Amino acid sequence: MKALEITNFKKSYNGNVAVDDISLVIKPGQFYGLLGPNGAGKSTTIHCITGIGRYTEGKIELFGHDVNDDYREARKRVGLAPQEFNVDIFSTPEKTIDYIAGYYGMRKKERKIRVAEVLEQFGLTEHKAKQFKQLSGGMKRRVMLARAMVHDPDFLILDEPTAGVDVELRHELWDHLRALNKSGKTILLTSHYLEEVELLCDTVAIMNKGKIVFEAPMADVTKNGTLEKKYLELTKDEL
Ligand code: ADP
Ligand code: MG
Repeated sequence: MKALEITNFKKSYNGNVAVDDISLVIKPGQFYGLLGPNGAGKSTTIHCITGIGRYTEGKIELFGHDVNDDYREARKRVGLAPQEFNVDIFSTPEKTIDYIAGYYGMRKKERKIRVAEVLEQFGLTEHKAKQFKQLSGGMKRRVMLARAMVHDPDFLILDEPTAGVDVELRHELWDHLRALNKSGKTILLTSHYLEEVELLCDTVAIMNKGKIVFEAPMADVTKNGTLEKKYLELTKDEL
């Protein structure tokens, strides 16, 4: 069984190609890093995996469920911590997470227990009643992570989770992600921080201009040089 299988996936916006015929496979339990400069097509790919974006070319499956044709089953299995904070900034972490739990069909009683659980897990209990806009950058990221995990998905997708997060909180987030992966969650992480991907991920792909230009086990990359060297080689603009 594959956790994620993308086959010949393409996506354009108004005729401009954002993702240009990519294929990739992620196996259960993997911690997969997708690197690439701004505009490479990482978020577009993630939006189509999670049902935020629509697509017509290619095929995307989560644990064998087609994300278009079988979206109810597919969406249960995935949680997304998005790059942009797509929340009501006047609302609280507790309400924000509860709202999504409702979206996944949890009843009020069950929600109460589960929301309290994820708030605690991500160290948000004491901040649960504050307005989102009053939280620090790191706390906001944690809310995104807690919300992504509320329905206990097997697959977690994080789109640049540490952008704008200071060093200390970044390390804290990394610890959370490592623990989740250890507990059996499959993780797809996009980032443009090379060290982050190198530290956390067992497999890395590099995307540039809508294409996957490189994929390898991390151990192989670091054995034959540095990830940075590889990355710069593959993403430098043509003259
Ligand atoms: P990344 O996440 O790797 O930075 P994106 O997937 O956000 O890349 O963007 C890929 C390309 O698609 C870029 O050229 C970007 O400008 C374009 N793009 C992304 N979202 C939209 C959108 N909603 N409408 C039009 N163009 C978009
Ligand atoms: Mg992006």
